[in-house]
Amino acid sequence: MIVVMEPNATQAAVDATVKRVESLGLKANVIVGTERTVVAAIGNKREHFKESLESGEGVSAVVPIVAPYKMASREVRAEPSQIKVLDFAAGAGEVGFIAGPCSVESEEQILETARAVKAAGGTGLRGGAFKPRTSPYSFQGLKEEGLKMLATAREETGLCVVTEVMGTSDVDLVAKYADVLQVGARNMQNYRLLEAVGKAQKPVLLKRGPSATMDEFLLAAEYILNEGNDQVMLCERGIRTFEGHTRFTLPLASVSYLHRKTHLPVIIDPSHGTGHTYMVPDMAVAAVAAGADGVIMEVHPDPSTAMSDGYQTLTFAEFERTMRRCKAVANTLQELDREEKASS
Ligand code: PEP
Ligand code: MN
Repeated sequence: MIVVMEPNATQAAVDATVKRVESLGLKANVIVGTERTVVAAIGNKREHFKESLESGEGVSAVVPIVAPYKMASREVRAEPSQIKVLDFAAGAGEVGFIAGPCSVESEEQILETARAVKAAGGTGLRGGAFKPRTSPYSFQGLKEEGLKMLATAREETGLCVVTEVMGTSDVDLVAKYADVLQVGARNMQNYRLLEAVGKAQKPVLLKRGPSATMDEFLLAAEYILNEGNDQVMLCERGIRTFEGHTRFTLPLASVSYLHRKTHLPVIIDPSHGTGHTYMVPDMAVAAVAAGADGVIMEVHPDPSTAMSDGYQTLTFAEFERTMRRCKAVANTLQELDREEKASS
C-alpha cells in the first residue's frame, strides 16, 4: 500500500505515519517527491489496514500497489530516479557512459583505457576483476589485484569504477574499491547476493538474466531496494532467443517498458547484447535515441588480444566515434525536452 500524504503534511505527520505503518507489522519506506511525500507500506498483510492508516493526520489517501514489485514501481515513485557517483549521472535527464575492458588485465591496460574513456567523454570505468566464465578453465580475473588497478585508474582520471561482484563473500572486498557494484546476468536471481549488495549501500548495476522476464528482473531489483538501498540501475544486456546472428538478442523496447513501469534508470549494454564489435556503435546510438539513461560498452587498447570478449570490444578510435554520435543524439533530445517543457 502507498500512504499518500497531503502536499502540506508536516514532518511530524510523516513520522507518525511511519510509526503507524511499523506498528501494523509492515515496513515503511518514505519517498519524498517534488509535490508530495508518500510512505510505502510493504508487507504481506494488507487491505484491512487501509482504514486505520487513512485516518492518520496529514494523510490524503491510501492506495494499493498493483505491481508485484513495490519499491521499484512508478506507483510508489512517479518521478524518475537519478544515480549520481562522482561525475557519473544516469536518469532523470542525464545519460551516463560507462566503458572499459571486459576484464582488467594489467595496470597499463586499465590506465590506458581509462584515459581514453575519459578523453572521449565517458564518466564510468568498467572492468571485471572477478569474471563469471562459462568454462572453469577460462581466465577468471585478477581478483583483488584487479580491484586495486581499477582504484588507481579512478585516482588518476576521476572516473567512477563499475565492477562485478560474484558472491556474497566478496561483497565487502569489492565494495572497498568499487563505486558501483555490478551484479552479473548469471547472478540476477541470486537472492542472497542481491540482499548483500542491498546492505552494502553502494549503487548497484543489476544486469538482466538472459532468460528473465521483466517482472523477474524488477523483482530482483526489489530485493536490493528492500534492503533500504535505493541506488539501483537496471541493465538490459540481451536475452536468449532462437536467433544466432547475435550472441544475445538486445530488446531496446525494454527501455520504454521499464520507463513506464519503474523509476529506476535503465542502462543498455550493446556489447554483450550483440556480441559483435561492428554492431556496438549503432546499437549504442540507438539506445540513447530510445531514451536509455546510460550505455555500458567494452573497450580495449587492442581487442584482438583481449583475454575475454574481444570480439564484441571497441578500439579507442571506434569508441571515440561512438561517443560523439551518442552525445549528439543525447544533446538533441535533451534540447527538445527543454523546449517542450518551456512551451507547456
Ligand atoms: C560483463 O559485463 O563483462 C558480463 C560478464 O556481463 P553479463 O553478466 O551481462 O554477461
Ligand atoms: Mn564481457
